[in-house]
Formats: sequence, C-alpha cells, structure tokens
Amino acid sequence: MTEAIERPASAAPPWEYASAPESTDIVRLDHRYGLFIGGEFVEPKSGRWFPTISPSTEETLAEVAEADAADVARAVDAARDAAPAWRALAPAERAKYVFRIARQLQERAREFAVLESLNGGKPIKESRDVDIPLAAAHFFYYAGWADKLEYAFPARGTPAPVGVAGQIIPWNFPLLMAAWKLAPALAAGNTTVLKPAETTPLTALLLAQVMQEAELPPGVVNIVTGAGETGAALVDAPVDKIAFTGSTEVGKIIRRSTAGTGKRLTLELGGKAANIVFEDAPLDQAVEGVINGIFFNQGHVCCAGSRLLVQEPVFDALLGKLKDRLQTLRVGDPLDKNTDVGAINSRAQLEKIEELVESGVEEGAEIYQPECLLPERGFWFRPTLFTGVSQSHRIAREEIFGPVLSILTFRTVDEAVEKANNTPYGLSAGVWTEKGSRILHMAQRLRAGVVWANTFNRFDPTSPFGGYKESGFGREGGLHGLEPYLTFDGGAR
Ligand code: NDP
Repeated sequence: MTEAIERPASAAPPWEYASAPESTDIVRLDHRYGLFIGGEFVEPKSGRWFPTISPSTEETLAEVAEADAADVARAVDAARDAAPAWRALAPAERAKYVFRIARQLQERAREFAVLESLNGGKPIKESRDVDIPLAAAHFFYYAGWADKLEYAFPARGTPAPVGVAGQIIPWNFPLLMAAWKLAPALAAGNTTVLKPAETTPLTALLLAQVMQEAELPPGVVNIVTGAGETGAALVDAPVDKIAFTGSTEVGKIIRRSTAGTGKRLTLELGGKAANIVFEDAPLDQAVEGVINGIFFNQGHVCCAGSRLLVQEPVFDALLGKLKDRLQTLRVGDPLDKNTDVGAINSRAQLEKIEELVESGVEEGAEIYQPECLLPERGFWFRPTLFTGVSQSHRIAREEIFGPVLSILTFRTVDEAVEKANNTPYGLSAGVWTEKGSRILHMAQRLRAGVVWANTFNRFDPTSPFGGYKESGFGREGGLHGLEPYLTFDGGAR
C-alpha cells in the first residue's frame, strides 16, 4: 500500500481526544437468529447458518440463518397469505401500525444505533444522528399517507396495493434502507419479503422484533437473511414487485431476470457524483461539504461526492484547506462518539478499495493520505485524496465506495457540466457557488437525480431520491416513492 504523507506545517496541531465509547450494554444479542417468517423467528429449512461479525474487531457477533430457495418460497407464501387481510384493513388502521413502528424505533433508537455501528462499522454519531432518526422519519412520513392515497394521486383512479413486494437492500445503510423499502410498501397496503445484506443483518432482525411488539399481523413483513443466492431466489420467486438497492452489476442481472415476467421493478444502483466548487463559493463551507460528501459513512454511499471538480483559480486554496481538514479527521472505533471515519464494512470491500487506489497510483495520479494510527484488527482505510486525476483514470470512472476522493479541475461552466456528466452514472451532484442563478443553470444541465446546492448528502423522507442512466430507475422517498407500490388499474393480482 501507499505510504502516509507527513502533515504539512500549516496544519493545526492534532487534538488528542479522550476516548468516549458508547456502551454496548444496551444491545442484547442472541447467539443465533432464525428467519422472520409469518411473524415468528423460524429455523431455516436449509439448515445453514453463517456468522455475522463486527468489521472493527472481526469478532463474531451472532449466527444468522441462511435462507435457500425453499425458505424464500415459505416467506413469499406467508406474505401472500397475509395480503388479503392487510389490504382490506381500513387505511387509517394500517397507518396505526406504521406509526407504532416509527415510535418504537424512536424509543429504542440508542439500541438500534449501537447495533448498527457494531455490525456495520459506521461511526456511532452517524447511526445515532442520521440513520436511526431518518429511518423513524420514513415510517412517520409514510404512515401519514396511508389513509390519504386518493388525495396523493388525484384523478388516477382508485389506488390499490401491488401485492407482495420482494425487497433487497445493501450494507451501507442497513436500517435506513429497510425503512426506505418497508414504510411506503406497508402504507400502500402491500406485504413484503425483505432480504438484508449478508454483512449487516442484525438491525433488520431487531426491526423484526419491533414488528412483533407493534403486533403487525403475521406475514405482512418477512425477513430472509442470506447472501446473493438468497437475493436471487427472491427475485425469481412469485412476487409482484422487486425493489433493489445495490450495485449496478447486480441491478443488471435483476433487470434481465425480471424482464418479461410482469414483475414491477425499481433499481437504485451505483453513482460517481461530481461535487463542483466554483471560484465564488464560500470555501470553508465548501470544504465541510466536500469532506461530508466523501467521508460520511467511510464513503460507502451511492450518492457520495467522489469526484471533486474545482474551478482552477481556487484549486490551490481549496486543496490546502482540504489537506488540513483531513488531518483532523479521527479514524477508528465506530463506537467512540468522537470518531469521524469508522471501519470499512468488510474485508472484500477493503480489498476493492485498495485495488482501485493502487490503480490510481499506477495510472499516475498523486495520492495524499493524512498520518493516522489505524487499529490493528478490523478493516480500515485512511481518508485519501487524489490530485492530477484525468477523466480516463479508473478512480475517476469507477465507484470506489470508500473514503477516496478524486480531484479534477475545470475552467468554465461548460467544462464543469461536460466533466460532471461524463460518467455512466447519474445519481447525484453538488454545486458550490454564491450565485443562485448558477445553481439553477447547473441543476438543469446536470444529469443527476439529485442536485444539492451548497450542501451535500442531505436526505429527507419527503424528497424523492433516485438516478438516471446506470444509477437505475424509479424513485424512493416522497410521493414518488409511494407510487411504485400502487396500482391504479382497478386492483392488484
Ligand atoms: P450487491 O449489489 O452485491 O448487494 C446488494 C444486495 O443484493 C445485497 O443484499 C446482496 O446480498 C444482494 N445480491 C447480491 N447478488 C444478488 C443477486 N444475484 N440477485 C439478487 N440479490 C443479490 O453489492 P455488494 O455488497 O456486493 O457491493 C459491491 C459494490 O456495489 C460496492 O463496492 C459498491 O460499489 C456497490 N454498492 C452500491 C450500493 C448503492 O447503494 N448503490 C450499495 C452497496 C453496494 P449480499 O449482501 O448477501 O451479497
């Protein structure tokens, strides 16, 4: 691997923070977790279990059932059996269950946050302040729509649920992605089978306990754990809709296998977002936005601002500030409340990041990494900047999904637009400028589903999120996120 670079003399002296670990006592882990089917935890028919670990210590936290095709079929049957009563329930009654789930999430927020950081490696301040509150907010938001669907989509006919939804989610925001999928589906009257990512199943399983406490009718939500094969079995199962968030590669496989089946499909895939800083931008504010854009959640973010485009006159000033800021990022124990950058989610992801970073060095880009001690066990990667990046470099084209920023420059607005759009992806973008007219001009020309102006990585349940091109299709969040779970043609199958 590449060597860390000496701190520049201009950087502020590093603060020594006393450690402030969040206690894990609040989390009660079972030795083993079965599949959540028909409102109960059941043994897998497959007879197989796999360990789930903490990526910051490599310790095994629990064993989790591995669902095979027969287990998935059982979960889909449970969802199918539960569907008629759930869709027939008065919408206001359905809403009460969804509100109850939201409130339970709030009440148990600390437990969820600790478990999320334990199992996924993200800093506790992010799970505590972003993931869990936003997950609860999604349930609150969609609960509010459950009895207002006809007003939400006026003149479209009578809204009805699609039926049984198969929902496959990734490891970067485990509980939040579950909420993005489950909340609109339930509010619209669907029943579901959810497949969490192999490396991060635990908060979804804790959510299953919340479903039990909320007395959600058995079979309305089913959770099948496992690896890619479990996801593939769910895609092939007789469900009415597939909602997938994950890699573009797997998204393409799912697109192929659902083609011609009549199953509805929404895909939320990868990204390689441009974060564009114009010369008139407030630079200190932009630095914070750039840092948040790429180092939030270790860069394991589909909409991460992984390509920084800087207007030439401010390049030197911005780069100096970014390097200084990098020195102050605290990398380490995800459960320490001072930690800014936690553990990489898995060994496989770490190897992918290392391979792409090495390609950047080999292709001639210049690397900068701050000095920082990394824990001996677990999966870690230093926050990394690349300058001298050209558009043909792999680090400028491929999704790294790690704490690695590729910096390019531009001179004119047209060049910024050209470079920003020069990617197969189209999920998000950021614009930093003090001119409102330029923000509007850029937002119209950037081919991205979300364009943030003078901020980055802001999420809101009322706001649609999704991509163009290889970033997928369909929207989650807001009314747009409700629509894929509804049919207006007089009834579901
Ligand atoms: P995947 O796309 O493989 O995983 C996403 C989900 O799909 C997981 O639940 C996964 O299960 C499941 N899955 C895997 N294969 C199949 C299949 N053939 N059919 C149905 N479901 C399947 O992402 P990875 O975890 O492998 O990450 C690889 C890369 O994807 C990352 O490096 C990153 O670039 C990108 N990514 C993008 C995300 C985004 O939000 N846009 C999120 C995660 C990753 P399992 O986890 O058990 O393999």
